Amino acid sequence: MILTLAVAALQASAQVAEDTYRIPQENVETARVLAAKALASDLALEVVTSLTTQVGPRLAGTPAEARAREWGARTLRALGFANVRVEEFPISVWTRGESVHEEVSIVSPYPQPLFASSLGGGAATPEDGLEAALVFFDSYDDFVRTDSASVAGRVVYINDRMTASRTGEGYGWANRKRRSAWHAAEDLGAAAVLIRSVGTDSHRFPHTGLIGLPEGRRPNIPVLAVSAPDADQLERIQRQGERISVRIDTPAGWRGEGVSGNVIGEIVGRERPEEIVIIGGHLDSWDLGTGALDDGAGIAITVAAARLISELPQPPKRTIRVVMFGAEEAGILGARAYATARQLDGTLDQHVMGSESDFGARKVWRMRSDVGPDALPAVEAIAREMSRLGVIPGDNQGNGGPDMIPLRVAGVPMMRLDQNGEDYFDYHHTPDDTVDKIDPEELAQNVAAWVVFAYLAAELDVDFRAGRD
Ligand code: ZN
Ligand code: ZN
Repeated sequence: MILTLAVAALQASAQVAEDTYRIPQENVETARVLAAKALASDLALEVVTSLTTQVGPRLAGTPAEARAREWGARTLRALGFANVRVEEFPISVWTRGESVHEEVSIVSPYPQPLFASSLGGGAATPEDGLEAALVFFDSYDDFVRTDSASVAGRVVYINDRMTASRTGEGYGWANRKRRSAWHAAEDLGAAAVLIRSVGTDSHRFPHTGLIGLPEGRRPNIPVLAVSAPDADQLERIQRQGERISVRIDTPAGWRGEGVSGNVIGEIVGRERPEEIVIIGGHLDSWDLGTGALDDGAGIAITVAAARLISELPQPPKRTIRVVMFGAEEAGILGARAYATARQLDGTLDQHVMGSESDFGARKVWRMRSDVGPDALPAVEAIAREMSRLGVIPGDNQGNGGPDMIPLRVAGVPMMRLDQNGEDYFDYHHTPDDTVDKIDPEELAQNVAAWVVFAYLAAELDVDFRAGRD
């Protein structure tokens, strides 16, 4: 009996061994050397400092974004990347106007200025500005139940607060007002829309960001966000039962057609160069800050990781392609242009794995995948290797980041290296998104996690689609 049990146990362990993927020892050793080098390197900090200093803000479709493309190609060439090129594509350009200073103020009952910024896509006021009564909605849900009689000719204000979390999952809910309020408000005859900034800080910085543009529709009314303390101010006056009227003056608007582009560089694979592991971040940023966390850090992390891999005695089996996507903030336009071009040239299916870094610069704490079921043991093995860096394994519902959406929809396997986002939305899309907010040690931990992931994805003989229908 005991013998039978022992045999059964042996068989069971053999079964487990069969289901468990083991990374070849030499690759484990290389990954650990790369991670150690990443932790000791300040290349990522140099890259993000260079981008945010020498280019600064880089709104999609503007001359600043064009300078960022020149910077990107120059940087990739200087770091020894192969096949460096820029792929341009046309976009419609929106800007805030000559100045980033737009005027929003309380006219009555207590006249005073507020700190506010247009949301991307919002329209200008008439030349002399507009003045109107404010209708206060404590939540987006209250607003969607309103009628034309309540808001026609007035400024719709929506309050909803966002809750901070490591995963940033409060963003989608809080962001409904930013994306969706304007078209209902415009249909009801409102004069303008103001929202409490979608953010988690208590500083006097408004958070900008793109409004929803359903089927290409653009607003004819101004749409702006006020900073959290100014939103608190409006809330206090409202709670006193006072009628509020405001003045808004902004030149924001659409400026016709322009050009954006993706900057691409590669570490060419030694055995299967046609197979591509695509990583990167987005090169454009909002105009208020210098786009250090969003997304200079993502550019820097992925460029630094690929550069460390290029310093190995031989490149990995597959190609690592770094893409600096243009016009992400304008609606992931660079990612769409990239995927469309690969559909046309027939190389889409050669993308074997994709991931973008676009959630700031705090430590990576979890790795999630979106791979075929038969590739899960290999993903678990990669995750075990990353646990040395404080990264835990996650589920198989990872989405790869915003610029990976078109590739993921087309069936490209994805990995997501989740960063700690508990203070990401304190700075997101504000004038306060600047390079001093980046902790060099946390940034280096990101590079270490990325170098392990990118090296192993490009080196291991794993089909990440395996087992998919
Ligand atoms: Zn952003
Ligand atoms: Zn971003």
